[in-house]
Amino acid sequence: MTALSPQLKQATPVLAERGEGVHLYGADGRRYLDFTAGIGVTSTGHCHPRVVAAAQRQVATLIHGQYTTVMHRPLLELTDRLGEFLPPTLDSVFYLNSGSEAVEAAVRLARHATGRQNIVAFHGGFHGRTMGAGALTTSANKFRAGIGPMMPGVALAPFPTAFRYGWPQEQTVDFALNELDYLLATATAPDDTAAFIVEPVLGEGGYVPADERFLRGLRERADRIGALLILDEVQTGVGRTGRFWGHQHFVPQGPLADILITAKGLASGFPLSAIAASRDLMAQARPGSQGGTYGGNAVACAAALATLEVVAQEKLVENAAEQGDRLIAGLRAVAERNKAIGDVRGLGLMCASEFVDAAGKPDPATAARAQQEASARGLLLLTCGATGNVVRMIPPLVVDAGQIDEGLALWEESVEAAVA
Ligand code: PMP
Repeated sequence: MTALSPQLKQATPVLAERGEGVHLYGADGRRYLDFTAGIGVTSTGHCHPRVVAAAQRQVATLIHGQYTTVMHRPLLELTDRLGEFLPPTLDSVFYLNSGSEAVEAAVRLARHATGRQNIVAFHGGFHGRTMGAGALTTSANKFRAGIGPMMPGVALAPFPTAFRYGWPQEQTVDFALNELDYLLATATAPDDTAAFIVEPVLGEGGYVPADERFLRGLRERADRIGALLILDEVQTGVGRTGRFWGHQHFVPQGPLADILITAKGLASGFPLSAIAASRDLMAQARPGSQGGTYGGNAVACAAALATLEVVAQEKLVENAAEQGDRLIAGLRAVAERNKAIGDVRGLGLMCASEFVDAAGKPDPATAARAQQEASARGLLLLTCGATGNVVRMIPPLVVDAGQIDEGLALWEESVEAAVA
C-alpha cells in the first residue's frame, strides 16, 4: 500500500470529513472549532452555501478555461469585481494558483520593469517555498536549511520587531529604516535594487504588524531610488485583518504598493492567486514570462467572485474587525493570567500569543503543548515564528462572538494544561 511521505508534519490528528462555517467535523464524529481556516484561507467559512453554489454551477459549465488559450467569463467578472476592492492605481491583474507563484510573478515583473536584479526582503518574512519565493523567506530555518542555493539577488533588512532585536519600542522603526539605508549603501546599490517586498503583518514569522512610518519609509525610499514596493497581502488580504487589505491600517489612502499580491482568502479554499499593478507597469512584463497551466482556473474564479460577494454582503471585513477586537482582548486577558505568554499581537482576526520561558526566551515546547491541548479539546490552532513559539488564531471571517468566547475558554484551559 502506498504511504504518504514521512516528511508530512500534520499539526493536528484530525481527519476532516466535512466543514461548515467555522467548524470541521472529524471522522471520529467530533466537531472542531477551526481557528486555522486552512492557514487563513476559508475566509467565508467552510463550504459557504453561496461559494458552493457558484462553484457547482461553474463545474457543470466549464471547469478548465485556460485563460492564455481561451478567455472565460468567471475570470472577466472577477477582474471587474476585484477592481472595486483594489487601490485605484492598481488597475490591472494577472492570475496564478498559489501565493508562491504570485510572489515569483511579482519578482519577474519587478526585474523586467526596472532592469535591476536585487530584491530586498525583511527578516522573518514568509513569501513561499519555491526557489525564488523561498529565497525571500526567512521566517524559519526549515524553509531553507539544506535546500539552497536559492534564487540569488536577495538582500535582507530588519522588520521593525523590537522584541527580537532588543531595540526600544519607540525607536524600532528608525532603527529598521537606518539598517535599510545602510544596506542600500553597502550591499545592494540603488541602481541594482529592483524592489522591496514586505508583509503588512509579518505572518509565518510571528504575527507582527508593520507600522505606518515603516511602510511610508519604504515607499519614500522606493521612490527615491527608482525601485518598486511589493506588498505581499497573501495572508493579510481579503478582510483578514479587519480592513480589506492589511496595509490599509497603516496607509488607508495610499497609493502605497506598486505591486500587490493576493491569494489564500480570495477564493475561500480554491487555489487562486493574483498580482495587481498599474497597466503601465504590467506592460513591462515580457509577454509569456508569467503564467501556468492552471492559473485563473474557471471554478476558482467563480468561487472567488462569490467570495467577494459574500465578504461585501455579510460585512465580513467589519465582522473581522469587531470579532478581532474581542479575540485580542480575550487573548490579552489569558496572557495576564499566564506568565508563559510574553506577548499578544495581531490585527483583526490574525492574532497570536508568544510563549516565553522565565528568562523571556522563546519557549516552543510550551507553545506546542498548548496547541496540542487545544486540539484535544476541539480547538484547532497553528503555531508560527522562527522557533514555533507563537500560537496563532485565524478563524474564518464569519466567526461570531459566541464562537470567539468558546475558543477563548478552550484556549485558557489549554494554556493552563500546557504549563501544569
Ligand atoms: N506569502 C505569504 C505572506 C504567506 O503567508 C504565504 C503562505 N503562508 C505565501 C506567500 C505562500 O503562499 P502559498 O503557500 O499559497 O504558495
